[in-house]
Amino acid sequence: MSATESAAAVKYVTETPPEEIARVKEWINSEEYKEKNFARQALVINPAHGCQPLGAEMVAHGFEGSLPFTHGSQGCASYYRSTLNRHFREPAPAVSDSMTEDGAVFGGQNNLHEALENAVALYKPKMISIFTSCMPEVIGDDLTAFIKNAKQKGCVPEGLPVPYANTPSFNGSHVHGYDAMLLSILQTLTEGKQIEGRCTGKLNLIAGCDFNTGNYREYKRILEAFGIPCTVLGDISETFDSPCDGTYRMYAGGTKLEDAADSINGKATITLGPYATSKTFGWIKDNYSGKHASMPMPVGIEKTDAFLMKIAELFGKPVPASLKAERGRAVDAMTDAHQYIHGKKFAVYGDPDYLIAYVTFLLEMGAKPYHILCSKGSKKLEKEIQALLDASLYGKDCKIYMNKDLWHMRSLVVTDPVDAMIGDTHGKFAARDAGIPLFRFGFPIFDRVNLHRYPLVGYQGIINMITFICNKFIDIKDETCEDRFFEMMR
Ligand code: SF4
Repeated sequence: MSATESAAAVKYVTETPPEEIARVKEWINSEEYKEKNFARQALVINPAHGCQPLGAEMVAHGFEGSLPFTHGSQGCASYYRSTLNRHFREPAPAVSDSMTEDGAVFGGQNNLHEALENAVALYKPKMISIFTSCMPEVIGDDLTAFIKNAKQKGCVPEGLPVPYANTPSFNGSHVHGYDAMLLSILQTLTEGKQIEGRCTGKLNLIAGCDFNTGNYREYKRILEAFGIPCTVLGDISETFDSPCDGTYRMYAGGTKLEDAADSINGKATITLGPYATSKTFGWIKDNYSGKHASMPMPVGIEKTDAFLMKIAELFGKPVPASLKAERGRAVDAMTDAHQYIHGKKFAVYGDPDYLIAYVTFLLEMGAKPYHILCSKGSKKLEKEIQALLDASLYGKDCKIYMNKDLWHMRSLVVTDPVDAMIGDTHGKFAARDAGIPLFRFGFPIFDRVNLHRYPLVGYQGIINMITFICNKFIDIKDETCEDRFFEMMR
């Protein structure tokens, strides 16, 4: 059957006249509709976050030989895996105990035990990191008891670390799942490993719920320039960016388990992204040797400076000349590109730590983060962003929208226009309707290649962000200007 014939064969239950479609299309761009949209309470449309287990699975991949394990539904497990596959364009090997109707009625203990035995036999992991989907959380499965029983029954070999985290998705987002899983992994691996008087001399670095492999590499490069030995905890840089050389590695990369275990004896620990690491940092402060610092993502000049100064202070080393030169180049790039971004209005959305980063960067460039939206935010986040806005000339008139979704964002950008959006792929529909570019700096990015390989942190990150943004604005000018204004020089 041809496409025309099959289209003709479709019988609509309700026919909508073209005039009505045109009327509604126009109406949803109106102030009246925006008001109704913002009065909406019982429905979320296109939220700018994923569910808790997604973050839990991501960080579980960041340890050597770690097999992420979903206690819950197979469909949920497929969602986390496919989201990671599509973002990184890499495999995300993980398992699930595939709870179905009987599990929902009688509890998922049998599923969990059988799946653990199978996972050990088939995939020979060095660690199994378990987290939950909604279903076992709703029925109240007791994960602690189930895992204790599994160990007693011998479903997992003695000594195999089995960290686990409750990650109910009806509460929080992928950011909270990341924090909960990372905490459990560190608690499990470091148990009984603290040695009085021992110091590894290393920095432990936790990157936060960050899906950009380039950022992890950038942190390592910066620390190498300092000459400071480092353990990146939850290191996904190799896992999700391994070379294509004809060999499939089920467990590529990840933090070595012995390094993670010894991290409790580190000289210092820095967590980046306070909103994604609040529980983990709280526990580290009370349990890890050495000094501890929780810092925002080093995006933009001020926050990168603060990160480098903190490293210098913790290790009593000066900032290396090579990094000082990089700073100079970043400032030069900012100055060169200033004219293309200064005064431009942006709509930004995403995870709390990323939002702080976008707002900081835009204000430093003299741009306006005009609509700022977080779909899982808090009063604390709102206050912190407001303080950034208040401290800058360019923060005037910018507004923060907490716990709103991307359908709200659509209303904002069509009624009160901006020049561009910054966020993940889910915002492309609103950007298209508003006829503006979307700069994809968040997670997930499904519709562009390689962006997760370009760091946004550090001085190099500043240059990358400027390059993406300013060149796009210049492209638009070239594509839309009258012939007489089409110039060689821009
Ligand atoms: S929100 Fe719950 S049901 Fe939906 S994918 Fe996440 S864990 Fe599964």
